[in-house]
Amino acid sequence: MNPDDFDYLVIGAGSGGVASARRAAAHGAKVGIVEAGRVGGTCVLRGCVPKKLLMYAAQFRDAFAEAAGYGWSVGHPHFEMPRWAAAKAAETQRLEHVYRQLLAGSKVALIEGRAVIDAPGRVRVGDRVLNAKHLLIATGAQPVRDSIPGIEGCATSDELLDLHRLPPSAAVVGSGYIALEFASMLQRLGVATSLFYRARLPLRGFDEDLRTRAAAALQAAGITLHPGAAPRAVQRAGDAWLLILDDERSLEFPFVLNATGRRPNTAGLGLETIGITPDADGAIPVDARLRTAAENVYAIGDVTHRLNLTPVAIAEGRALADSLFGPTPRAVDLSLVSSAVFMLPPVATIGPTEAELAASGTKLEVFEADFRPMKQAFIDGHERCYMKLLVDAASDRVLAAHMIGADAPEIVQSLAVALTAGATKAQFDRTIAMHPTAAEEFVLMREPARVVG
Ligand code: NDP
Repeated sequence: MNPDDFDYLVIGAGSGGVASARRAAAHGAKVGIVEAGRVGGTCVLRGCVPKKLLMYAAQFRDAFAEAAGYGWSVGHPHFEMPRWAAAKAAETQRLEHVYRQLLAGSKVALIEGRAVIDAPGRVRVGDRVLNAKHLLIATGAQPVRDSIPGIEGCATSDELLDLHRLPPSAAVVGSGYIALEFASMLQRLGVATSLFYRARLPLRGFDEDLRTRAAAALQAAGITLHPGAAPRAVQRAGDAWLLILDDERSLEFPFVLNATGRRPNTAGLGLETIGITPDADGAIPVDARLRTAAENVYAIGDVTHRLNLTPVAIAEGRALADSLFGPTPRAVDLSLVSSAVFMLPPVATIGPTEAELAASGTKLEVFEADFRPMKQAFIDGHERCYMKLLVDAASDRVLAAHMIGADAPEIVQSLAVALTAGATKAQFDRTIAMHPTAAEEFVLMREPARVVG
């Protein structure tokens, strides 16, 4: 057999592509994976992992401030970005090495270079021609750089995570996941941060009660909020940037973070040669079985621009490999996916918002807890914790859980098991609390705060 003839060829060695390639190889398929950059993808190299490492660094600001109330004297701590940057570079290198070893250990051939689809079942990488019975496109996404005139010269999260020196102040444009996470981190790392967004509240699409509390938490951290004030243009002014607002105000910042969304990586792949037309966002349309418009060509993860989350891409990649090369085809159920915004304090959520459920005509019991956690009360701190359960009044089933507060992602990840299993409120009530924790409040909500619908 020609060494460049594959049962399964994957374009993009990120979390989803690697998971799919390894699963297919485990089923006995001959698998190749093509990668134009470093192995590991957005999550490992420029997303989840380095972001969370910077969040850990940022959290120390709050810990140092709180330490005095607990009897500690910690002097005058200060953050040195070059030290964090060196440690982060070493960690992402280590993880890239782990990914390469995983591929080699699974007998997946790594082909380094840019893939261009040449014809059905044929991909070129430089001078090399690879033939594939089945082709998976898992090329991910990248930051949108042209959302606002002039913003293309500004940093995105990619560049911010590679900084060796932080600016004294910064404007963050946008109010989605990336904007809120980085605004929270920058402010705590000593950067006076202003957040510009076009909506009334940040985090469009999240439950309103989380959005109002997220805005309050950002403000309490000292971030200057500019709701309803996305810049209409950005201009260079010497070493600085000018944000030109709709009301013609112009504000100057040494650093601007463009956090206005991400766009699928479909340009230059040769999709047109096999009859795939990306949608208006540049995404590859797929059906429930991850099939594209071209026969034997599939797409998973951010390049399909649906739920842009690493675990979703991994689950899709494995399900696809199982379907193509395993004994039983299967689809991934994405009807209930939890996610977190790692701002400080973090937001975590699973299931629809109260407004979405109310609009669907579901009669709802809304249970809430809003309190100052013990750790904060002891030092008279301001940070609060808010939790909400949305319960279907007819079936008693818990349809959604929303939380903002310390450890929210860890707590909601565990609750996700209960919701996925179809837990009822009566089962939450039967659960004995673990004390003293914040999470216990989720099983101690006795009376609904309101009934909707
Ligand atoms: P989001 O889609 O979450 O947010 C984009 C933001 O940019 C929104 O606030 C949007 O405003 C704003 N925006 C878009 N265009 C413009 C414009 N022309 N002018 C002003 N504002 C604009 O994108 P992110 O880049 O933050 O994240 C991309 C995706 O990556 C997320 O949706 C998520 O799926 C994933 N992600 C997940 C993380 C996690 O799991 N913790 C972390 C980071 C990313 P508006 O709301 O008004 O449209």
